[in-house]
Amino acid sequence: MYEHAFRDEDVAESDLVTRRGTFRAVAFRADGHEHMALVHGRTRMREHVLVRVHSECMTGDIFGAMRCECGEQLDAALDAIVREGSGVLVYLRGHEGRGIGLVEKVRTHVLQDEKGLDTLDSATTLGLPVDTRDYTPAARVLHHLRVQSVRLMSNNPDKVAALEHHGIRVTARVPLLIPPNPHNIAYLRAKRDRLHHDLPQVAAPEQSTVDRRGVGVRPTGSG
Ligand SMILES: [Zn+2]
Repeated sequence: MYEHAFRDEDVAESDLVTRRGTFRAVAFRADGHEHMALVHGRTRMREHVLVRVHSECMTGDIFGAMRCECGEQLDAALDAIVREGSGVLVYLRGHEGRGIGLVEKVRTHVLQDEKGLDTLDSATTLGLPVDTRDYTPAARVLHHLRVQSVRLMSNNPDKVAALEHHGIRVTARVPLLIPPNPHNIAYLRAKRDRLHHDLPQVAAPEQSTVDRRGVGVRPTGSG
């Protein structure tokens, strides 16, 4: 159903020493974007490889924005892979705002902040789709890396289904739960209630928004 081999000119790899440890950085072109897989330890021909398929989020991943949990999930996934001693993080470009792009994503933030719309309604109000992300490039690179089966770090059952649809065997879904903060609690609730992500830590927001003195902090963010 799709070509999973890359042409030589569309892939390059080298060692990448990071603050966390050494990875094999596999850069590849697919579907008009340049993506990267970070491979740690031995994963080739292995089963049950710990994998994160991470959608690009400039505001969260690079700038540490607290209105989503992307940056913290990226950190937690890389930490988990290093702790395990092996694994793959696939970083997918072109996935800003679940596929609408950076400018439109920031436009949805305006509607969230000024009108109190959630992450879905702010997109549809602008005439934009809620989620157009394509996981084909992730499946292609996992095939390229000869990973036999994966334990997928994700709270999103749809992502498991999407990878399986592209021929990746997912033997487990590993939750990647980030404690809510006042700026992302509404966003996480919308993901839980409307996008059906499995977010048990959000079910008890009163615990996560109580500060050290035991005083309840009212969530102020709109996600
Ligand atoms: Zn984000």
